[in-house]
Amino acid sequence: MAAKKRHLGGEFKPHVRSGDEVLILAGKDVGERGRVAKVMPQWERAIVEGRNIVIRHQKARGGQQVTAEQRAGRISKPAPIHVSNLMVICPSCNQPTRIGHQRQEGKWVRFCKREGCGEIIDRRETT
Ligand SMILES: [Zn+2]
Repeated sequence: MAAKKRHLGGEFKPHVRSGDEVLILAGKDVGERGRVAKVMPQWERAIVEGRNIVIRHQKARGGQQVTAEQRAGRISKPAPIHVSNLMVICPSCNQPTRIGHQRQEGKWVRFCKREGCGEIIDRRETT
């Protein structure tokens, strides 16, 4: 994957956070839900636990003493998914939703934009 590295200044704030439950909108696991393990803002991508697994074929490296990492074989690991292909699932209404931001008690919080819900998703600062 020849993804271009962007947002080197760190100005990009994805709507997904690690720990969020998300719905996957594109790729081989489209329609699946998963939990965000890691967000990579500079790549606009996120790792979703157990999703978008790719199998990498690897040749042995390292001569006599090889670590598990260097052994030849097939290694399966989750590949990052672009954040635009992820939709946050609201913990309150359990539906994939668009995320809004609002200021509450001096902090920016994320909230569910789904009609009839509008619950605050978390209270972590979104600076
Ligand atoms: Zn909701």
